Amino acid sequence: GLHSVIALPLPHRPLFPGFYMPIYVKDQKLLQALIENRKRSAPYAGAFLVKDEEGTDPSIVASPDSSDNKTIDSLKGKELLKRLHEVGTLAQITSIQGDQVVLLGHRRLRITEMVEEDPLTVKVDHLKENTYNKDDDVIKATSFEVISTLREVLKTSSLWKDHVQTYIQHVGDFNYPRLADFGAAISGANKLLCQEVLEELDVDKRLKLTLELVKKDMEISKLQQAIAKAIEEKISGDQRRYLLNEQLKAIKKELGLETDDKTALSEKFRERIEAKKDKCPPHVLQVIEEELTKLQLLEASSSEFNVTRNYLDWLTVLPWGNYSNENFDVHHAQQILDEDHYGLSDVKERILEFIAVGKLRGTSQGKIICLSGPPGVGKTSIGRSIARALNRQFYRFSVGGLADVAEIKGHRRTYVGAMPGKMVQCLKSVGTANPLVLIDEIDKLGRGHSGDPASALLELLDPEQNINFLDHYLDVPIDLSKVLFVCTANVIDTIPNPLLDRMEIISIAGYITDEKMHIARDYLEKNTREACGIKPEQVEVTDAALLALIENYCREAGVRNLQKQIEKIYRKIALQLVRQGVSNEPALEAVIVTPSVEPTDGGSATIVKDEKLNDPAVKDPEEAKEPSLKETLVTEPALSTDTLSTPEGNKDTDGVKEEAADKAVKKVLIDSSNLDDFVGKPVFHAERIYEQTPVGVVMGLAWTSMGGSTLYIETTKVEEGEGKGALVMTGQLGDVMKESAQIAHTVSRAILRDKEPDNKFFADSKLHLHVPAGATPKDGPSAGCTMITSMLSLAMGKPARKDLAMTGEVTLTGRILPIGGVKEKAIAARRSSIKTIIFPAANKRDFDELADNVKEGLEVHFVDTYSEIYKLAFQNETETS
Ligand code: ADP
Repeated sequence: GLHSVIALPLPHRPLFPGFYMPIYVKDQKLLQALIENRKRSAPYAGAFLVKDEEGTDPSIVASPDSSDNKTIDSLKGKELLKRLHEVGTLAQITSIQGDQVVLLGHRRLRITEMVEEDPLTVKVDHLKENTYNKDDDVIKATSFEVISTLREVLKTSSLWKDHVQTYIQHVGDFNYPRLADFGAAISGANKLLCQEVLEELDVDKRLKLTLELVKKDMEISKLQQAIAKAIEEKISGDQRRYLLNEQLKAIKKELGLETDDKTALSEKFRERIEAKKDKCPPHVLQVIEEELTKLQLLEASSSEFNVTRNYLDWLTVLPWGNYSNENFDVHHAQQILDEDHYGLSDVKERILEFIAVGKLRGTSQGKIICLSGPPGVGKTSIGRSIARALNRQFYRFSVGGLADVAEIKGHRRTYVGAMPGKMVQCLKSVGTANPLVLIDEIDKLGRGHSGDPASALLELLDPEQNINFLDHYLDVPIDLSKVLFVCTANVIDTIPNPLLDRMEIISIAGYITDEKMHIARDYLEKNTREACGIKPEQVEVTDAALLALIENYCREAGVRNLQKQIEKIYRKIALQLVRQGVSNEPALEAVIVTPSVEPTDGGSATIVKDEKLNDPAVKDPEEAKEPSLKETLVTEPALSTDTLSTPEGNKDTDGVKEEAADKAVKKVLIDSSNLDDFVGKPVFHAERIYEQTPVGVVMGLAWTSMGGSTLYIETTKVEEGEGKGALVMTGQLGDVMKESAQIAHTVSRAILRDKEPDNKFFADSKLHLHVPAGATPKDGPSAGCTMITSMLSLAMGKPARKDLAMTGEVTLTGRILPIGGVKEKAIAARRSSIKTIIFPAANKRDFDELADNVKEGLEVHFVDTYSEIYKLAFQNETETS
């Protein structure tokens, strides 16, 4: 063969037989020589790997413009020869394009000597593998291992498959040395290791070296796979999440759960607050702005997002600075108050005063009105009227039994299911910043387990504090100073003192029968009738029936029970009317209007016609021209229903028709005689339990949260015997009342000693004092004089004077001290038809101030000492009898 060849330096890897390798030849002279060679149809050269310069690390990759490459290119002759590995490859030059020369490796060569300097030409020996035994087990085994390892690696890399294809094309079948070359060539091993394989002529050793290289490759390939897998997993995980999230959004949108994304949401909030921007305090605007920014940053599915969204919802929905125009017109207010409530002139007067002050000051802030009185006297509805009179929105909430401060002050937002307090809820629902807020049952405020509701309420109500009211949820101060607070209470002594101090108490005592009659007639009846859809002409409740209802069914201070009874009556009437087939269609109206006169032949028909014609509801001239047609129209329905209830309806004479029509025309009449058909048997039968009060029984006057009431105090003897004098008490008496019974016992004894010195009754008898009704707890000192009278009556065996009721606290010396609830007690006495009452002299002014209709008909005695009562209770009686 060829003994001298041009030497080509290979900078990166050695060229293996059967492999292509492109190189770039910068040296023009060398390139020219190669082209010449090809032309002379000797397209061969020797390819030798370049040795690294002494002291450089072969595994460090030098940057392409580093001096190293340049030096190789510029080296010539001996210098270059020194830098080439001795063993190389005979390379066929398959193509030259520009400076790119493609080499194909053939057999191995070794340089023996230099022939020419430029281009470097060398003399070479052709190398052959050592002979080997192809059936050698070790060689076989090693080659199999190389193959199986290559297979493994091939699985993962498609690049290698191409190599195999081309290799087979050029080399033909694999033999062991070729296999070794192939493995080394395609392995990613560094150039020195490859060069080692190239130089190894022992087949067994070469195979072993190759095996090492491909095994290492396999490891790398595995590592690569693992890395690829991990990265893929990461990517696909993220992608999955993203996809699922997108789907979720779509589903939510579809279901209308999320009308739109975050931007739409904050758009909504922005829009809301935009409208209020001028009136909204700047600190609130700032918080809203911050929260809106926060909303954008939060994950829409996070709980934090929800909290922020709700918070923004509250912040933006409140009526910042939106006030309704207050109406301080006193005449207008008077008109509205009268429209809604009968009587109560003193209460109305107080309210008008209040409005007048508001008019002069220009604002009604700074006062808390407290309406106190028994249930059903109209406290709540007066509150509503005031709101109407002032043109303020009305909102009502009850604090009865309220123990949780959060109800007033709100929860902190971090709390699950947090809500703002009642006041913020109120502002949201009324939509103005100056409503009238009615706080019900302020006397029944609960005791808080955490925090004091009373002080929370004070924060809310106190004009000094509520200008900057801080709700825990809202977390920005709100101005409640424009809110008008009205409280209601049954009694004032259980209202916490700090609250009471800031209130203006307006008390409503309750109504006497006469007032109740008016309220029932002009208000309750009218409202109920309208609510039931009954026309005024369809019903009449006589005065006697109403009176009976008040006296025998509803003995209460207010009118709530009365209202219930009236509603009951009207519901029954409604049913009765419907059963009779009477409806309120205009065509029938005329029929019903017809007075309930005795039907006269033909006469009623005329009335029907007249009524019909005069009815303004009927304006159709056609109808007016044909009275006969209308008559049938009018009478027919009434008749048809009436035939069901009256047997006469079956007769078909004209006269009967008219008569039947007239029957339906009759209105429902409620009299004292048929009252119990509507409301059942009377609850209060006899006026009093006793016709003639027995010995030891005396009527007292009491005052409770339900208003005033009359009650009997009873004393009897348990046993008698020398020195057995003692006192037992029952009837759920409080401590004060028990003490006043003891006092009464002592005072009675003194009086008896004075009046009947020989009477040893108190010394020798064990007494039992009872105050019915036993189930209701009672307390207070005002029954003192009643107890004495009861004991003395028993001691002397004399009944106290009939129709007498009394009230007054007694001292040990028998002086009478003033009591409370004069008006309530007076009303209660009237309710029980008591004519004569005894009041402490110190209460005379209270009584004189009462309205005339309460006082009239009452015989009132004002006393200073018990001896005056003694005279009234026992001596008058003895004189008359
Ligand atoms: P309270 O709050 O004192 O318990 P409400 O305000 O609920 O009583 O009153 C009960 C009912 O009685 C209401 O329907 C109210 O309109 C009616 N009422 C009470 N007092 C009067 C009055 N003086 N005139 C007309 N209606 C009254």
